[in-house]
Amino acid sequence: MLNKKSIFNLISIPLFTIALTSSALAVNVSNIADKTADYALKTYKNDMIASLAKLVKYNTVAVEGTSANDNPEHIAFKAELKKQAETLGLDFQDHGYIVIIGLGDAKERVGIITHGDIQPANPSKWEKSPFELDMTSEPGRLIARGTEDDKGPIATALYAMKSIKDQKLKLNKRLELYIYMAEESDWGPLEAYVKENELPQINITIDAEYPVVTAEKGYGTLKIAFNKQEVNSIEPHISHFEGGYFGSQIPEDAKTIIENADVSLLQRLMNKAKDYAGIAFDFQLESTRLTITALGKSAHSSKPEEGINAIPYLANLLADTRWKSNGAGTLVNFINDNIGLGLEGKKFGNIAYHDDFMGPMTVSPTVIKQNKNNIELNINIRRPIGKSAKQLRAEINTAIATWKLKNMADITELAHYIGDPFVQNSAPHIDTLLSVFSHYTGIKNPQPISIGGGTNSRLFPNAVSFGPSMPGAEYTGHSEHEFITMEQFELNLKMYTAVMVELAK
Ligand SMILES: [Zn+2]
Repeated sequence: MLNKKSIFNLISIPLFTIALTSSALAVNVSNIADKTADYALKTYKNDMIASLAKLVKYNTVAVEGTSANDNPEHIAFKAELKKQAETLGLDFQDHGYIVIIGLGDAKERVGIITHGDIQPANPSKWEKSPFELDMTSEPGRLIARGTEDDKGPIATALYAMKSIKDQKLKLNKRLELYIYMAEESDWGPLEAYVKENELPQINITIDAEYPVVTAEKGYGTLKIAFNKQEVNSIEPHISHFEGGYFGSQIPEDAKTIIENADVSLLQRLMNKAKDYAGIAFDFQLESTRLTITALGKSAHSSKPEEGINAIPYLANLLADTRWKSNGAGTLVNFINDNIGLGLEGKKFGNIAYHDDFMGPMTVSPTVIKQNKNNIELNINIRRPIGKSAKQLRAEINTAIATWKLKNMADITELAHYIGDPFVQNSAPHIDTLLSVFSHYTGIKNPQPISIGGGTNSRLFPNAVSFGPSMPGAEYTGHSEHEFITMEQFELNLKMYTAVMVELAK
């Protein structure tokens, strides 16, 4: 989920340097797993890339009001999966929203959980089409929507399974690759499926980070409407404020319009704009109308620290004025008072809290919707354990009501959604996953981690996440610059192959 050439990518280099020298460490990974992993990379690297190139061609974003079962892009994507599975000699089942690709017929099973849908991509932000695998713009990187989240991992899992099949390993457990078609938009059909069907006894989700994720923050959405009012005044006022693209993306774009502006206001704001790092402001004064656009950096909203959120930064640029409460001005005052440039909601009444293992709750404005009578602010929260949803909801209501009263603001709280965090302590295969990770990366004594994102792990028994992103590396899914490095793609093939052998043998 991030942007052009970040320093985070540099951080990942030492990890790979270690990886090259680490095989000698050999922590509890069987010979047969290691041998199969080597075979996979040697034999199928190019086929895996070709598979991914085909999978990213389908714009499998959810279309509101259309079931994934009726969406032509989803249908075509599943047909492609079927073709690939059958070519590899893997079995294929289509359950509508859920596709299962399997190997072996043992009664016990190991599930590998992925998703085939994607988040929207804004083509104007991409060097080439987000739906063509771009391997040339930035050598060493495979760029396209879904490369990291989650079509890259699907391609990797397919060739890990194919390699295991080629080696004719005797499997005591059947391998099942689950591909869910609405992970980004609607967990309902999967929840219904897991109630009616017997699931694999142990599962790994390959839709997050290494080494092993045993806790995920709860996802939440706060929605507040700022009702519009006419302004008849010669004083400067904000007539428009917009920003954001979709709810789980830290937005890089925001724009505002100030009426009755003059050159002195313009100069004051341009001077202040020089104080910010990582965000670019553009100013246009036409007669008395000043338009300001902000360009920050997009990121996954579960990792707000990896982005620069254009909405609060643009509001902060305007923070030296108390704006007229006409809707857009009310919104700017609200953001400055309650959100600011911090990421943890520390100015927002008493809502802020944190957990020692899971970290702080994060509070990020992500989308501003323009309605006829109001402007709607959508705030994305990611919360750890430590507070009940009920308590948090009450604190949010109090903070908004207090601010509303104090500012005589015409705002309306809309329905909030506050999800629960997920903690998985009992999965029996955590040590196996940590051993494989340590063996192939050379990172000693890796420990389970907690993430801000939510995966389908919580719907499967004994499920934990295992990759595909390295700890400390920038996560690019949901950003307008999504890619997986060739190095990571190859390393994932080895690690997923080895893990499948270890869990199924
Ligand atoms: Zn994902």
